[in-house]
Amino acid sequence: MNENMKTDSKRKQYIRRQQRRIFPWKWVMIMMLLIVVCVAAIILLTGTRTKTEMTSNHIQSVQVTESQAIDENAMNSMDWNLVLVNNENAIPYNYEPELVEVSGGEKVDGRIYDPLMEMLEDAKEANLGQLPMVVSGHRTQEKQQKIMDDKIAEFRREGNSKSEAEKLAKKWVANPGYSEHQIGLAVDINGATYDLYFWLQENCYKYGFIFRYPGDKADITGVAEEVWHYRYVGVEAATEIHERGICLEEYLEEK
Ligand code: ZN
Repeated sequence: MNENMKTDSKRKQYIRRQQRRIFPWKWVMIMMLLIVVCVAAIILLTGTRTKTEMTSNHIQSVQVTESQAIDENAMNSMDWNLVLVNNENAIPYNYEPELVEVSGGEKVDGRIYDPLMEMLEDAKEANLGQLPMVVSGHRTQEKQQKIMDDKIAEFRREGNSKSEAEKLAKKWVANPGYSEHQIGLAVDINGATYDLYFWLQENCYKYGFIFRYPGDKADITGVAEEVWHYRYVGVEAATEIHERGICLEEYLEEK
């Protein structure tokens, strides 16, 4: 009996051990491994996509920041009205002012339209009652290049060598990329009488414009006197420039 019971319990132990051995640990492990691999793959894929999205977002934001910087630099934050353009200072990179047409067909930066028209209206009395004409406003790079080419050709026709003609032309015409006309803030004004220019020289600052190239500042501006050329800088700067008899280069150097 006792012997029998012992054998019985040994058998049960054996069966339990067998059952434990039959339990598919191997499959459980494989399944778990598969799940782990799947989860890892999902995490990896989602992660990559997020990273790609982030990278492209980053590129976009960098591009936006760059173009904003150019815009702000050129148009807004750094006092758009005080942008300096002369023989040494090129027009700002990618500068594209929003242009509007003035009577006569020339175009200017929309922000100077009102003060310009006001000034021209008020100048009528010094111009035999006629509205002075804007004969040159904004110029594209191509237009400035053509003006330069024409001037060189003119000096060539007078018998100058190519290099002489180029040198002479540069005294009269700004190099493409270095003309104030290319930023849309400068205008050449044509009058019926010379009195108009005296009036403009005395009054243009009230409208935010300056007589940009006075004869006595030619050594600083690099341009011989141009009584017809007026540049918008805003009333504040124009008033100081007018009252102190300085030119834009001198004014900006102090700022
Ligand atoms: Zn001009």
